[in-house]
Parts: sequence; structure tokens; C-alpha cells
Amino acid sequence: MKYVGAHVSAAGGVERAVANAVDLKATAFALFTKNQKRWSAPPLSEQSVTAFKQACQTYGYRPEQILPHDSYLINLGHPDNDKLEKSRRAFIDEMQRCEALGLTRLNFHPGSHLREIGEQDCLARIAESINLALDETRDVVAVIENTSGQGSNVGYCFDHLAEIIRQVDDKTRVGVCLDTCHLFTSGYDLRDEAACAKTFAQFAVLIGFDALFGMHLNDSKTLLGSRVDRHAPLGDGEIGWGCFEYILKDSRFDGIPLILETTKPERWPEEIATLKRFAAEK
Ligand SMILES: [Zn+2]
Ligand SMILES: [Zn+2]
Repeated sequence: MKYVGAHVSAAGGVERAVANAVDLKATAFALFTKNQKRWSAPPLSEQSVTAFKQACQTYGYRPEQILPHDSYLINLGHPDNDKLEKSRRAFIDEMQRCEALGLTRLNFHPGSHLREIGEQDCLARIAESINLALDETRDVVAVIENTSGQGSNVGYCFDHLAEIIRQVDDKTRVGVCLDTCHLFTSGYDLRDEAACAKTFAQFAVLIGFDALFGMHLNDSKTLLGSRVDRHAPLGDGEIGWGCFEYILKDSRFDGIPLILETTKPERWPEEIATLKRFAAEK
């Protein structure tokens, strides 16, 4: 079974995200559980939590169909210890918000070394940040997103993701989300079936599909290996529809949220319908 949806707005309360997903005929969705551009947020109200859970039940969204995303401000590999501590506190709060909502995964960008420490040091800090957050929570899996390697972001290759996982104590609660635009712009080709087969075979060897907890389906405005992250509607970018058809027809991507973060929300209903059709054709 394929779960397909988009990163929908939660403006007006997390429960609104469910309604927005329903409007798209989505079978999966992503959301921010707080304003993603701010450090702190008031705790979720009991009313909001109840309304969210009720709506998920009514419309049949289970936790494995939902992929919350954390704030863009958080850098779990920060070279400065005080700032790292601030990020770690905010990340734990994000994990706890997910738990309050009955959700079981939190998607985040690994972090940046800001050219002040080496990549390996940054990866070790990220792994330790995950260990600390897992100690403070019970049910949520930390889902690391691969990056395009823009600026000083780590996580642009499978080796980085594998190294973070290697240093996380509880392997049952760490996994990855692969973003197709980030894969492509970090140098993994996805433009035809052979390229997809090769990229995902590498993933299978270095990380493994058991650790895949979600996908972001985005085309790319920029070229293979550009390290510049610019999402495009499916079929409008350098990757093309073939990759998305490949994913929807491959059972290794069953049972996880497949999330659009494409740039024209008005096209989401059509993109979702096309993706569902690929899955049905299999
Ligand atoms: Zn992301
Ligand atoms: Zn993404």
C-alpha cells in the first residue's frame, strides 16, 4: 500500500492539517506542529490534541501515514555548545509535541558545521543529539532527512546518514527520509530507471530499506550534483516523472508517507492523483 500526500498547512491549529489533507484526497501528510520559524511555541492545547486525534481517526490517517517536520532553526550538529544546547532543547520539545499528538516519527535536517568544525565532529554531535532526545521520549522515531549539501549542511551522502545511525544507541528509533530533490542535487542520479535502480541499490547496501520511514517527492529546478536545493513541481524539473513512477511502482516504498513539497500547491491534487494512478497500475 502506498501512502501519498503533501506537506500541508497547519495554520489555525494542527487539526486543520488533517482537513487540508482530506481536501487533497491524500492518504499521507506532513505538517509542522508549531511555527517552524520560531524557537518556542505554547504547548499544544488539550482541545487541539483531541481534535487532531479525532480527525485522524475519522478520516483514517494512522501514525505511519503522517510525517511531522521540525523547525528550520534547529541545528543538532551546531559547533557552538550553547547554541547546540538550545537546538537540542527545541528538538526534544518537537519530539514531545509529536508524542502528545500520538505520532510516531519526526523528520528533521541533520545539521550544519558552519565551517567551524569538521564533518565527522558534526555527525557525532548530531548522533549525540538524537541519543539525548530518544532518552527523553518513548514512542517517536528520529527520521533524518538527506540534504542537497548546500552551504555547510552534512547529510548529503548515504555514508553520512549511515554514520549518524551507527552512533545512535537505539537503532529501532532512528531512520531516514529521502528527499528526491536533495538526492539529485547532492549527486545521486534519478533521471531514468537504471539511474533509480543504481541509487536505491546503494541505499539498500549502505542503510537499508528497513530504516526508510518516509520520502519527500520533489522535482529539482537545479542540475544533478548542483548542491543547490530548489524544489519544482513533478515533471517540471531536471528529474522528470520517470523517477516518481519508479518509486510508486516499487514495493520497497510501501507503507511509508510519500510527501510532496513541490512549489505549486494548486497542482497537488493532480500530482497526488497521478502518483496514485502509478501505484494502482503496478
Ligand atoms: Zn526537510
Ligand atoms: Zn524535504
